[in-house]
Amino acid sequence: MASLKMPFHLPQDLNGKLEMPMVIIKFHILLLDHLVKREEYRMIISAMVRIQANTCIRFIRRTNERDFINIESVDGEGCFAYVGNHGGRSSMNLESSGKASCMFHDIVIHELLHSVGLWHEHMRHDRDKYIKVHYENIARGKTYEGIYEIRQK
Ligand SMILES: [Zn+2]
Repeated sequence: MASLKMPFHLPQDLNGKLEMPMVIIKFHILLLDHLVKREEYRMIISAMVRIQANTCIRFIRRTNERDFINIESVDGEGCFAYVGNHGGRSSMNLESSGKASCMFHDIVIHELLHSVGLWHEHMRHDRDKYIKVHYENIARGKTYEGIYEIRQK
């Protein structure tokens, strides 16, 4: 049986299966002014419920914890989330303006999973065993910089 190379150590149970400890994510959603609206708030919560139903990840509303995800909807900022929390406030933006909207169930889940530390599958350390990246076909420019870079974490 091939061993699975993990970028971090996980404990194993008596049968050698990896045990993923529960991951608790504190979150804060800004509801004021031009930020996240009620309908969008419900969509974010719905995406969190979906993740919780299928993983060991749990989202808990922040009170005064130091480390948390701060979810906002700032126009012109698009859809993004920092990968993992590096301590303190970790930003996530879900734009919902006349120009762009990230408020689709799958996009919200995508960004939430980035916030708990997951990169895209095509950035995995072992991806070259499964796919070939044709760099010559990738448009040069700011948007695509680093998007095919292999990540170890
Ligand atoms: Zn992404």
